[in-house]
Amino acid sequence: MATPQSVLKEIFGYDTFRPLQREIIDNVLARRDTLAVMPTGGGKSLCYQIPALLFDGLTVVVSPLIALMKDQVEQLRAVGVPALFLNSSLPVEEYVANMAQVRTGDAKLLYVAPETLLTPRLFALLADMPIDCLTIDEAHCISEWGHDFRPDYRQLTDARRRFPSAVCLALTATATPRVRSDIISSLGFSQSDTFVAGFNRENLYIEVVPKTNPAAQTARFLERFKDQSGIIYCFSRKQVDELADFLAGRGYSARPYHAGLEDDTRRCNQEAFIRDDVQIIVATIAFGMGINKPNVRFVLHYDLPKSIEGYYQEIGRAGRDGLPAHCLLLYSYGDVAKLRYFIAEKEGVEHQVAMQHLDAIVRFAEDEVTCRRKPLLEYFGETYDAWSCDNCDNCTAEAAQQIDITIPAQKFLSCVKRTGERFGAVHVVDVLVGSKRERVLQLGHDRLSTYGIGGDLSKKQWMHLGRQMVQMGYLNQDAEYRTLSLTSKAYDVLKNRLPIMGRLQEDEQRQSKGAREADVEYDRTLFALLRAGRKELADKAGVPPYVIFSDRALAEMAAYFPQSKERLLDISGVGHVKAQQHGETFLAIIREYCREHSIPEGLKAINRVKNDTGRRYMAVGEAFNEGETVPSLMDQYQVKAATILNHLARYAAAGHKLRRADDLLPLISATAEQQESAFAAFDELGTDFLKPVFDRLEGSVSYDALSALRLCYLSRLDGRSDEA
Ligand code: ADP
Ligand code: ZN
Repeated sequence: MATPQSVLKEIFGYDTFRPLQREIIDNVLARRDTLAVMPTGGGKSLCYQIPALLFDGLTVVVSPLIALMKDQVEQLRAVGVPALFLNSSLPVEEYVANMAQVRTGDAKLLYVAPETLLTPRLFALLADMPIDCLTIDEAHCISEWGHDFRPDYRQLTDARRRFPSAVCLALTATATPRVRSDIISSLGFSQSDTFVAGFNRENLYIEVVPKTNPAAQTARFLERFKDQSGIIYCFSRKQVDELADFLAGRGYSARPYHAGLEDDTRRCNQEAFIRDDVQIIVATIAFGMGINKPNVRFVLHYDLPKSIEGYYQEIGRAGRDGLPAHCLLLYSYGDVAKLRYFIAEKEGVEHQVAMQHLDAIVRFAEDEVTCRRKPLLEYFGETYDAWSCDNCDNCTAEAAQQIDITIPAQKFLSCVKRTGERFGAVHVVDVLVGSKRERVLQLGHDRLSTYGIGGDLSKKQWMHLGRQMVQMGYLNQDAEYRTLSLTSKAYDVLKNRLPIMGRLQEDEQRQSKGAREADVEYDRTLFALLRAGRKELADKAGVPPYVIFSDRALAEMAAYFPQSKERLLDISGVGHVKAQQHGETFLAIIREYCREHSIPEGLKAINRVKNDTGRRYMAVGEAFNEGETVPSLMDQYQVKAATILNHLARYAAAGHKLRRADDLLPLISATAEQQESAFAAFDELGTDFLKPVFDRLEGSVSYDALSALRLCYLSRLDGRSDEA
């Protein structure tokens, strides 16, 4: 008997389910209506494809994106699953032929556009068919609280009612709690369950840099991605055309994509990108919803996106194959002003929603301290309580850049106080640097004790410092008027003279390390040969290369050197049908290569997990136990304190004992009393979860500080049990 597990392995060639796939599949098979929220690349498709193969009847998949359907159907056919699609892009004869084929009952999956599903012709056809599952992809389009509301999607409510015996599965990659409940109530789910998979995409390196000279910044960025695929998002069509021309003129393989291009041109550019004939697509947000290309290695935002949801979805198109990918956002305040201008034309709820979306993305982009993942994940209702992800600009910024900024911070805070907490950063900075601007003189602020005490830094440095003060929670910034006021944390600093660590130099000087390397070391030459073989097969079959095999599968082949069909089936993404169809082509390339390079039969050779990123926490933990201090480790590894603390936490979580870590206490931004109350809360509530402790302390101590305190707390316990 076929089971979800056996279908996963035999048809799709995968050994294990991704998080929540199994739960969602079981729920659908039990015929409970289900909402599944999973990040892009999380593996949503299998959640309905596997049940579709286990149900007797038909699974209907509604998707707003025509390009995606063709792609999905091609991929299913490549693994031997009978699937079809119906939408307005099909020529009449094919449409009729596909309808006839549905009628025979051979197809397991039928993809349709929402407007197609709602036609009487299709209803009539489907009325006579046993339909076991109705899948609604991109379900957030139903909600006007989402970032991509489509009025025609509303009518799916009606369609859902027409198939009462089918179980309904709604899928989306982006949904805030509000959008989620909206989807459930719109679809009238009665007996339903919601599954929300972790949104963290560990393989994406997330970076935001100030936009100074975008064309030059782009060219420099692209230097790192020779021969690799990527997407550049721009705000306007004009910008897209200009940038695509600029890049093409410099010899890059780049094409434009936006709604203003001829249909044919657009389709052709997209197709070329998907087939690896063109490396870079420069596009408006019109591009991407229908793109399933797994080997996108970078996404560059040339302009500020309108919302965090949109941004997360766009960067989510990178690295679907799980291999490292780089996401870079060029940020300028000018872009914010531009977006505000467009939003000003909207009215009512729409205006309000757009402003909220913009505010959230601005806050994210301006944050130069917190791990990038944190605000992103919190936006989707998840807490992220690692100190450092080790894979974003803020977490990997050079340690040397964090310095003691106590004195300038105190100057800034005092100046906000002296000017009466009624002004924005620009005015405060004017007073600090002793500006002679009329407004300063008029208000008599040249007579304040803080007037001109900031001559040691540039205006730009002070502005930067001010933003950090907001991010670190020392200052409140009024959402509407942008005026600054002191928080209780700021009074603590002023009273107790607590040290503050931060950055002082101007933004451009920040250096990022870039995305990590893949964790499996593979033979690059063999990989290139396999890729060339794949491209040839793909072109012959008229499908995108990834329909044949993923980059991940090729990388594994180039790491394990399988030389028989049995070994080939061990590779991730190689199922029976593909092994049968293409196995020999790839085995021949591998065998020949192994012969030439005298690589023995079987795997061996280069299956080395990179010591550097994967196991660094062991080295750090051991060095710490031997007496190294956090500052000395920061120096040695050139990383921030948070990164070292994170390594130590992983070390402890892996079951290793830590030496008593009291020397960490002064590094943690919490007063002595707060530290004591945190310890008391750990005594009472345990250390497994931080949220209860955070709540107990009424949010007065940040998650970062709590995680560090937990480490100290645990190290004390360890010390005690050693003595006993
Ligand atoms: P989504 O629709 O959520 O963006 P997809 O369904 O397109 O994601 O899956 C993304 C990639 O991950 C695809 O290449 C898919 O084959 C692969 N994938 C899905 N599930 C698994 C799994 N259990 N093991 C390995 N790879 C998987
Ligand atoms: Zn991070």
